[in-house]
Amino acid sequence: MEKETLAIRLQNERTKHHEHSVPLYLTSSYVFDDAEDMRAQFADEKEGEIYSRYANPNVQELIDKMAVLENAETGWATASGMAAVFTFFGALLQSGDHIVSARSVFGSTHRLFTEILPKWGITTTYVDFDDYEGFENAITPATKILFLETPSNPGLDIIDLEKIASITKRHSLLFAVDNCFATPLLQRPIDFGADVTIHSATKYIDGQGRTLGGLILSSVEIIEKVKAFARHTGPALSPFNAWTLSKSLETLDVRMERHCKNALEIATRLEGHEAIECVKYPFLKSHPQYEIVIKQMKKGGGIVSFELKGGLEAGRKFLDQLNLFSLTANLGDTRSIATHPASTTHSKLTSEQRLEVGITDGLVRLSIGLEHIDDIWEDIHKALK
Ligand SMILES: *Cc1c(COP(=O)(O)O)cnc(C)c1O
Repeated sequence: MEKETLAIRLQNERTKHHEHSVPLYLTSSYVFDDAEDMRAQFADEKEGEIYSRYANPNVQELIDKMAVLENAETGWATASGMAAVFTFFGALLQSGDHIVSARSVFGSTHRLFTEILPKWGITTTYVDFDDYEGFENAITPATKILFLETPSNPGLDIIDLEKIASITKRHSLLFAVDNCFATPLLQRPIDFGADVTIHSATKYIDGQGRTLGGLILSSVEIIEKVKAFARHTGPALSPFNAWTLSKSLETLDVRMERHCKNALEIATRLEGHEAIECVKYPFLKSHPQYEIVIKQMKKGGGIVSFELKGGLEAGRKFLDQLNLFSLTANLGDTRSIATHPASTTHSKLTSEQRLEVGITDGLVRLSIGLEHIDDIWEDIHKALK
């Protein structure tokens, strides 16, 4: 079956009630048949869920669906996207190991690389997203993982997955991609040679601004290591959130279709507007990496970014003139959201530091929602005036 169907139809075995929708398994532990059953499960001689920090049917269903959607063998689910990023690096790396990462990564991932992992002697070298020689030159004998986001947040920079995979294969590195902006329905990094796909399910997977969640999808071999780390460090996803996210996957395809349609239309209308320096959207022909975009993405996604002519002040003013758009930190919601990174998420950096990660003072990031296109445009159009 097609991925779009599997996202709706894959589910756990039904219970004796023959329920249509999957029930919610709110239990912290599971009962053993007898002392021997208990011994065998703890000894890993027999399959069993044991405890909800280890396993849960709702969590497993979400993992199974996401693994199928990402063409991964299996996966692991966590309480948030950052828990997934941390669990992955924590599970795979040791003191003295080295990461090569694209410079433009999510803010908390940047903090993890620069402030947290170094506490355990794990270091990271950043490379500009379009410097493929730079990625290869940054690799040392201690390098174990190459990490990147494409499209990046908030700059919408695109990195050629196949090209990076050829580098990581040559150097026997793990290649991990944060696929949060694209979702598996628009881009499957594993199909282009990545070894690991990481998600913040908080964004498009939930898509309705309700729950946090994260996933790591990869081979059985890698996930066994993740499992060994996660079982005893406790970043477990709650069964209720897993149930919510699994139900959300049933509408992912129709939501992404509308997000992409609305976003492309808004990006097209913004291009050439007198108040705007430039617009960035992966499926605009003017996107600097358009050739790579059409090779690895099915559609452009729901995020549009643009540069206002008036810089920092214009960015703040624009946000204050919006009525429909929510000013909030999330993205990928049914509701349209606007943010101005220079005065919010990246305000602690200097203008020069911001530029290094592709954030100019007038940069506005729009997460285009599922509202009627005329209402979305009306709000933007009025605020620009
Ligand atoms: C939001 C986000 C994360 C972190 O996810 P949380 O669920 O908020 O912890 C990681 N990567 C990207 C690209 C994100 O947008």
